[in-house]
Amino acid sequence: MNDSVSGPDRAVEGFRKVFGAEPEGVWAAPGRVNLIGEHTDYNDGFVMPLALPHTCLAAARARTDGVLRLHSGDAPGGVVELRVDDLAPVADDAGGDRGGWAAYPAGVVWALRDAGVLSGDGAGGADLHYTSTVPTGAGLSSSAALEVVTATALNELYGLGLEPMRIAQLCQRAENVFVGVPCGIMDQTASACCAEGHALFLDTREMALRQVPFDLAAEGLRLLVVDTQVKHELGDGAYANRRASCEAGARALGVNALRDVAYEHLDEALGTLAGDEILVKRVRHVVTENHRVEEVIERLDAGATRSIGPVLTDGHASCRDDFEISCAELDLVVETANAAGALGARMTGGGFGGSAIVLVEEADAESVGKAVTEAFAAAGYRAPRIFPAVPSAGARRLA
Ligand code: ADP
Ligand code: MG
Repeated sequence: MNDSVSGPDRAVEGFRKVFGAEPEGVWAAPGRVNLIGEHTDYNDGFVMPLALPHTCLAAARARTDGVLRLHSGDAPGGVVELRVDDLAPVADDAGGDRGGWAAYPAGVVWALRDAGVLSGDGAGGADLHYTSTVPTGAGLSSSAALEVVTATALNELYGLGLEPMRIAQLCQRAENVFVGVPCGIMDQTASACCAEGHALFLDTREMALRQVPFDLAAEGLRLLVVDTQVKHELGDGAYANRRASCEAGARALGVNALRDVAYEHLDEALGTLAGDEILVKRVRHVVTENHRVEEVIERLDAGATRSIGPVLTDGHASCRDDFEISCAELDLVVETANAAGALGARMTGGGFGGSAIVLVEEADAESVGKAVTEAFAAAGYRAPRIFPAVPSAGARRLA
C-alpha cells in the first residue's frame, strides 16, 4: 500500500507489466469515512458518509474468451485466473477459503452475471490490475472501493448502462453472498455515489440520496481521520451479533426494522423491552443515531457546521456505551482530541479498531493531532496515522 496519490499512469504501467498489453481505460473508486449514522444501514436507517481522496484504481480491458484475470499491486500471490462461467458462491456451511482478496472482484462479476446484467457464455471476461491508496482494514472501506471500481470498469467495458446506485447494490450483493461478509449498503453507495465537496445523506430504506454541501476548507475547518492501526479480533463476530440484536429488538417491538421506532416514542419502546438490558441499549443506539443524522443535516443546512461537533461526540458515546463497539484506542482519540480543543470526535466504521474522525478548527489541527499522537505514545500504543478527510468524488473514469 502506498500513501501517495496514485495516478492513472501507475495503474497503466502496472497493467502493462503484468499483462503485456495496453488497458482500455483506468477507473477509480474511493474509500470513505462516515460522518454520522453508525450501524444504522442494516436497520433501514440513515447514514452520512463522505468519500476520501484515497482511491482504488483499476486498469482494465475486456476479454472475449470468458477468462477473468485479476492482479493487485497491493496483494501478494500474482495473477488470479478464473473462468467467469465457473463463478459461484461458496455455501456458508462449506467453511474455508473463499478465494482471498480476489473474491471481492470475482464476486462483482458473479453478481453482474447472476442479476442477468451480464448475460451470455463468457460475458464479463476481463484483465484487471489494481493499485490502491485506501488503507486496508482501517475502517475506511477499501473492500467497497475494490468492488465498486471493478463494477464501474465492467459497466463501461461492456456498455451495461448501470446507474451508480445499482452498481452499489450489486457490489453489496457480491460482498454479502460471494465474499460472505454481511455488510449493509453504506460503503458501496458512498464509493459509487459521493460528490466532491459534499457529504452524502442516504436513506437506506428508500435508497434516496441527497448531496449535502460540506466544504470544510471554505469554513476554516478540518476533518481529521485518525487511523489507530489496530483491528481487534472480536470485530467480525460482534458485527453479526449486533445485527442479530437489532433484528430481535425490531421483532420484540413489532416493527419491520428499528428505523420504524420514532425518536419521540423511544422511552415507550424501551419500556416494552425493559428487563432485557442488552436490547434496550442496542435499540437506543440505533434510534438515537438515526436522530443524530437528522440533526447533523439540519445544522449543515442551517450553515452551522461547527455545531455538529457535539453531535459527533454524542454519537461516539452511544457507540461506546450502548452499542459497545468502541475500544480503548478509539476512546483515547476522542477524549484526547476533545480535551485538546476539537469541536467533536467519534469512531467511524464498524468499530473494534479502525479509524476515528475529529472535527477541528484549521488552526488547531496540528496541535490536536499532536496531542493524540502523544497520548498514544504515553499509552504504549502504536503511532496512529492522521490525515485530513477532504470530501471527494465517487467512482469515475480517469483515463
Ligand atoms: P476495509 O473495507 O475496512 O478496508 P475489509 O476487511 O472489509 O476492510 O476489507 C479489506 C480486504 O479487502 C483486504 O483484506 C483485501 O482482501 C481486500 N482489498 C482491499 N483493497 C485491496 C487491494 N487494493 N488489493 C487487493 N485486495 C484488497
Ligand atoms: Mg470493508
